[in-house]
Amino acid sequence: MGRRTKFVDSDILVIGGGFGGCGATYESRYWGRDLKIVLVEKANIERSGAVAQGLSAINCYMGMQWGENQPEDFVKYTRGDLMGLVREDLVYDIARHVDSTVHKFEEWGLPILKNPETGRYLREGKWQIMIHGESYKPIVAEAARKSATEVYNRIMVTHLLMDKTRPNRVAGCVGFNVRNGDFYVFRAKAVIVGAGGGSHIYRPRSVGEGMGRTWYAPWSTASAYGLLIPTGAKMTQMENKIVLTRFKDGYGPVGAWFLLLKAHATNAAGEFYEKDRYPEIKARVGHYVDIVPMPTCLRNHAMLEEIKAGKGPIYMHTQKVLDTKEKEEIGWEDFLDMTIGQAVVWAAQNIDPKETPSELITSEPYIMGSHATCSGAWASGPEDCAPADYQWGYNRMTTVEGLFGAGDTIGGSAHKFSAGSFVEGRLAAKAAVRYVMERKTESPQVDDDEVERLKRAVYKPLETYRVGRNEIVAGSVAPSYITPLHGLQRLEKIMDEYVGGVGMFYVTSEPLMNRGLELLKMLTEDFECIGAEDLHQLQRAWELQHRILTAESVTRHTLFRQETRWPGYYYRGDYPKLDDSEWHCFTGSQYDPKSKEWTMSKLPVHRIVEGFELLRT
Ligand SMILES: Cc1cc2nc3c(=O)[nH]c(=O)nc-3n(C[C@H](O)[C@H](O)[C@H](O)COP(=O)(O)OP(=O)(O)OC[C@H]3O[C@@H](n4cnc5c(N)ncnc54)[C@H](O)[C@@H]3O)c2cc1C
Repeated sequence: MGRRTKFVDSDILVIGGGFGGCGATYESRYWGRDLKIVLVEKANIERSGAVAQGLSAINCYMGMQWGENQPEDFVKYTRGDLMGLVREDLVYDIARHVDSTVHKFEEWGLPILKNPETGRYLREGKWQIMIHGESYKPIVAEAARKSATEVYNRIMVTHLLMDKTRPNRVAGCVGFNVRNGDFYVFRAKAVIVGAGGGSHIYRPRSVGEGMGRTWYAPWSTASAYGLLIPTGAKMTQMENKIVLTRFKDGYGPVGAWFLLLKAHATNAAGEFYEKDRYPEIKARVGHYVDIVPMPTCLRNHAMLEEIKAGKGPIYMHTQKVLDTKEKEEIGWEDFLDMTIGQAVVWAAQNIDPKETPSELITSEPYIMGSHATCSGAWASGPEDCAPADYQWGYNRMTTVEGLFGAGDTIGGSAHKFSAGSFVEGRLAAKAAVRYVMERKTESPQVDDDEVERLKRAVYKPLETYRVGRNEIVAGSVAPSYITPLHGLQRLEKIMDEYVGGVGMFYVTSEPLMNRGLELLKMLTEDFECIGAEDLHQLQRAWELQHRILTAESVTRHTLFRQETRWPGYYYRGDYPKLDDSEWHCFTGSQYDPKSKEWTMSKLPVHRIVEGFELLRT
């Protein structure tokens, strides 16, 4: 075939230049002064990933220099918010390192707001600090750019490559340049994946003209999971999808309003509904309802029950707290720093937050490992604090040798957010460099036949379109191919209707999921007939492939866990209660690329930090 193939060799290959990837690149250079460190990114690291648009707060900062919090406190908080299930070793490891990373961000030029009375960072909440974060991503990207030997922007990575002789050893990846179509083969001694979580796996509330308007960026296409699953890497907690309470239609963040500005939410009648829901929630989840602060999913649940009872809309009473010019500015800037669309919605709907309350609603589900959920790869933990069955050599190495991860990629540890994801990249890189140093003479071999096979597969959608377009019957409809958008909308419909999306008020069940799996199988078969009219659509096709793989994993994990652990994130209609006797465990899955079979397992939950002080007594 006519496409050029370019080979790039490296010691450390970082895939995805978001927060995890930038942290990994930066730290790889610190420990591996003479190593060749290559960063590959599908967009441009200056403005890529979930933080592309900027942020208004860093949501994970201990403040140990002022004795504000200790890592142990953070473990307890995270454990509570995730209804008892987190990898405490991983959470602790991030918490103990996160402050020094935030101090670096400030040195690099990130403006962090100060409390004028104390001189400390201005707290939004117990774990969050306020920043002027419009340029957060370019600042962090600069550190990665200066550390990398080479940065390859605009390369969509489609598949990981395995070693020719050792099937469980990673050897690199392949992808294509989305601008000129060149095929790339990256060969590496260790690979760190930081390719981010997934939006648009579920049908969004906004469809048609508003389809791109989702909370999680539409360009976050679940590659962190779509790349790993076919290697046979063990995944965990993929059922733990995130649903967020946000301002309606613009998805503006609520944190600054609740925590800093102290605004309240009520139902349409002006009633505070959370406390009224206490007995019903207690019957579902037992003592977890008493955790302070109330876990994120349970707050969603209370709101959803209220809406189902016809007591919506739910309102955030912005008008009751904007009593000074300064507060008004904070309110608007909170959106302008990170979700400009919400300010536009206010303007378009004649909402002056000083005068009028604003509607809140829950989002469609997303798959993430760094926010208030912890989907991702099962990873080895830190040597000094991970229990024996949580470690097999190198921190943040997956069950595939030489394959590391960071941020949304790594499962079991929630609430990393931006700074924690960067920290996790640093931790993974430190271990990956050691892995490479300890194997100085070892160079994994890629299989040339496999590379050629993948090259043909990667460009096949262009060929399918070239031939099939002659049969177009109406507009863009053709009998012999589907477009990436058609495929995406079909995926979203399946997940929405069968695996607990907004159309089903997040409810699913075994029969529904079994039917969903049948439909996903047909979609997987039809992916072979996907047509791409240009390189842009070719990228959309492979993004869809990563989403489909992730969707199947999510469905299988949701089916496996026979309880409703996180009401407000999703409900098993056939198992409506939390069941600690059977399910106080992580879920695990491994996909066998040869047999195409999935193996599910229960993985142990160990406590390394004792006590549950944040429980109300
Ligand atoms: C809407 C939203 C609001 C948030 N608000 C806050 C906040 O206020 N404070 C806070 O601290 N944190 C916040 N976070 C969390 C924070 O953004 C994430 O925790 C963090 O970005 C995760 O890092 P990551 O490296 O895993 O993913 P990302 O930062 O998303 O990076 C993934 C990177 O991989 C690239 N990539 C993806 N697929 C491929 C591929 N196939 N080939 C090559 N490259 C690829 C992407 O382009 C991107 O650059 C928010 C997240 C979201 C989604």
